Amino acid sequence: MTPDKVRAKREANKVLEEFGIKRVPVPVERIIKSKNIVLEYAPLDEELSGMAYTQDGISIIGINALHHPNRQRFSAAHELGHHVLHPTEIQATVHVSKGLRALRRDPVSSQGSDPLEIDANTFASELLMPEKFLLEEIGPDGLDMDDETSVEKLAKKFRVSVSAMRYRLGGLI
Ligand SMILES: [Zn+2]
Repeated sequence: MTPDKVRAKREANKVLEEFGIKRVPVPVERIIKSKNIVLEYAPLDEELSGMAYTQDGISIIGINALHHPNRQRFSAAHELGHHVLHPTEIQATVHVSKGLRALRRDPVSSQGSDPLEIDANTFASELLMPEKFLLEEIGPDGLDMDDETSVEKLAKKFRVSVSAMRYRLGGLI
């Protein structure tokens, strides 16, 4: 299996359309609950962002409650991505996610090259920071990536972490 960013983005946009999302922040928790997915918060190891699995036909998402709320939102969107994109893969085992951390690791080790993780991050990024809304916020003058304050303001508006916004703006996810 190889990552399919086009599909991940398309599926995220389908969800945005389905829920008639017209502004940010995107209500990811409401979306998950409306899809009859059980959303649970629990303290997990620092390096884990969350997990996705199906048990007795019930779709479940677990989020690391110890992380910052904005990071938890990204984790929730990432795990929703697994349920939407990888229903078969998460049927058999509990899928544990390292979220954006996976991107920072050595790409040949760990989850940096895991197509499932790449797809889920792409989905989450598109869902929480939809291109259309991002372009609206940035405006015609563009954005200076070196200007810490404007990146922080943008992250706050979308209720994502500054690093998630930086990855998004950098075109990495
Ligand atoms: Zn994952």
